[in-house]
Amino acid sequence: MNQRWRQILLWGLPITVALLLALQFLGSGALSNLKPGGPTEAPRNTAVARMSYGRFLDYVEAGRVTSVDIYDGGRDAVVEAVDPDLDNRVQRLRVDLPGLAPELINTLKTEGISFDVHPPKTAPPALGILGNLLFPLLLIGSLIFLARRGNNMPGGPGQAMQFGKTKARFAMEAETGVMFDDVAGVNEAKQDLEEVVTFLKQPEKFTSVGAQIPKGVLLVGPPGTGKTLLAKAIAGEAGVPFFSLSGSEFVEMFVGVGASRVRDLFKRAKENSPCLIFIDEIDAVGRQRGAGIGGGNDEREQTLNQLLTEMDGFEGNSGIIIIAATNRPDVLDSALMRPGRFDRQVTVDAPDIKGRLSILKVHSRNKKLAEDLSLESIARRTPGFTGADLANLLNEAAILTARRRKETISLAEIDDAVDRIIAGLEGHPLTDGRSKRLIAYHEVGHALVGSLVKDHDPVQKVTLIPRGQAQGLTWFSPDEEQMLVSRSQLKARIMGALGGRAAEDVVFGYAEVTTGAGGDIQMVASIARQMVTRYGMSGLGQMSTDGGSQEVFLGRDLMTRSDTSEGTSKQIDEQVRGIVMQCYEETLSLVQGQREAMDRLVELLIEKETMDGDEFREVLANYTTIPEKDRFSPVLS
Ligand code: ADP
Ligand code: MG
Ligand code: ZN
Repeated sequence: MNQRWRQILLWGLPITVALLLALQFLGSGALSNLKPGGPTEAPRNTAVARMSYGRFLDYVEAGRVTSVDIYDGGRDAVVEAVDPDLDNRVQRLRVDLPGLAPELINTLKTEGISFDVHPPKTAPPALGILGNLLFPLLLIGSLIFLARRGNNMPGGPGQAMQFGKTKARFAMEAETGVMFDDVAGVNEAKQDLEEVVTFLKQPEKFTSVGAQIPKGVLLVGPPGTGKTLLAKAIAGEAGVPFFSLSGSEFVEMFVGVGASRVRDLFKRAKENSPCLIFIDEIDAVGRQRGAGIGGGNDEREQTLNQLLTEMDGFEGNSGIIIIAATNRPDVLDSALMRPGRFDRQVTVDAPDIKGRLSILKVHSRNKKLAEDLSLESIARRTPGFTGADLANLLNEAAILTARRRKETISLAEIDDAVDRIIAGLEGHPLTDGRSKRLIAYHEVGHALVGSLVKDHDPVQKVTLIPRGQAQGLTWFSPDEEQMLVSRSQLKARIMGALGGRAAEDVVFGYAEVTTGAGGDIQMVASIARQMVTRYGMSGLGQMSTDGGSQEVFLGRDLMTRSDTSEGTSKQIDEQVRGIVMQCYEETLSLVQGQREAMDRLVELLIEKETMDGDEFREVLANYTTIPEKDRFSPVLS
């Protein structure tokens, strides 16, 4: 039986191929295509007059049409018609058709009109045929391939298809051109990785004393912090080729593709050692196996298994180092972290202010900066920015500079670029009117409360120029490097966020408050709830009820268990409401007491549209005393 099938497949398939090819060849009209000079497109001749489709149908009915040439898949036609009023002179007319309708073809047939359909214009005729043939060829080719493999080496279903074999989708760079100097602000990570360069450059140093060279290093950190850049820099410093592959590319449609790519990758790497293999987004394949809902993902598991097998399969001193990157180390399969695999972890965090300064230095090397522009002030303005954000910031600023036809990048462009990256694109300011006044009071409310509550971050800027979703914005400058947030600071944040709504309330009345405060209210609720359930900052005392889990990971715990009883939930809600109400009362009375200052500030803001923090405080100081804020400000050399 097996033998017979083999016979049928081996002989039957080529014959089918030949038959199909012949059919395809004839059926596609490919032969007519080969006629020299055969038209493929309606002549775009202006001398040919146009005729409407309705008119054309009338002509057909009247028996005036002698021939029809249809082009462009039935959307265009050139018609020859006779004009009985002009001695039956032949006219050529163009008609736009609604498509290749069978009714039309039938009518033409029954009326005995000669017609021809021309294939749409594509590649040159010979290529066109190839294109037509390619599909059946490929399909049948792989069938034969399958049949033979299936007979010779019975394997699992995943073994039979080797689609991945032919198109190994990993990138290889002989020289990355990146050096450690190009990576800034991540000094600890760099120190850890310097050793890896030595592993690649002088492995004997370690092997001579019997040390096992580690095979894999896992870089952990949020996106844009320079993980890829670091991996490239290691290859660059060591002067070895850089092979890279992204985890998300493994997860393909066909089972087995990812595994075969891994195999190919390691094969090529071994041929090119010493070298570095970089696997980006390893969490896409390296998740915990076999725990997912509804069974695991076969493809991912096979890929991961292949990766583990390959890593175990070579000696530590074969000159290959594997570097993987992820921002979710918590979801990785524990098998990946075992000794002999990715047993070293290097954390690459978002840079602190000094780190940001040195990254800005790297990226401003090739930019023209105004003399009075200090990189320190940019570093101060950008807490939370990653290396990629900073690179993007300088680039945006450079684009703005060019657009404004300036010679050098100045603080104005940097400021606009920061705002744009954080809050989105600038919109058009509202024209003067009730809404603009309301928004002005709302923003001044935020800024006022922010300035007058001692523990609030100081105001950096108030603006009525819309950005992203927001109609107006108040910017505060956060304290640099503050790790812990106190209860009074959280309370200050709640009050600052409520300042906008309180101002609307005081000035326009409760009936007139708007949806504009929606985002603020949400933030308030979230801070207050965390104070109660996480930080033990309420009447409920020092207890945590949210279990500390931030995200449910399907592969591990099916659902978050709630260990909160119904009674406790009710108490939590009451506490949250209590905090918010109390804060709102205080905010309201603060705003009410500053009605005069507020009116003046709104007047100024509507006139100028943007006020910076100093300007704002200067005006406010005429009406009340502004508390001094104690801030830690790191010294930058
Ligand atoms: P990740 O791989 O961590 O997501 P990348 O290495 O791809 O981040 O960084 C993207 C770009 O951002 C880099 O090409 C580089 O221009 C810039 N960048 C990121 N981090 C740094 C850094 N520490 N120093 C200099 N440039 C950086
Ligand atoms: Mg990356
Ligand atoms: Zn607001």
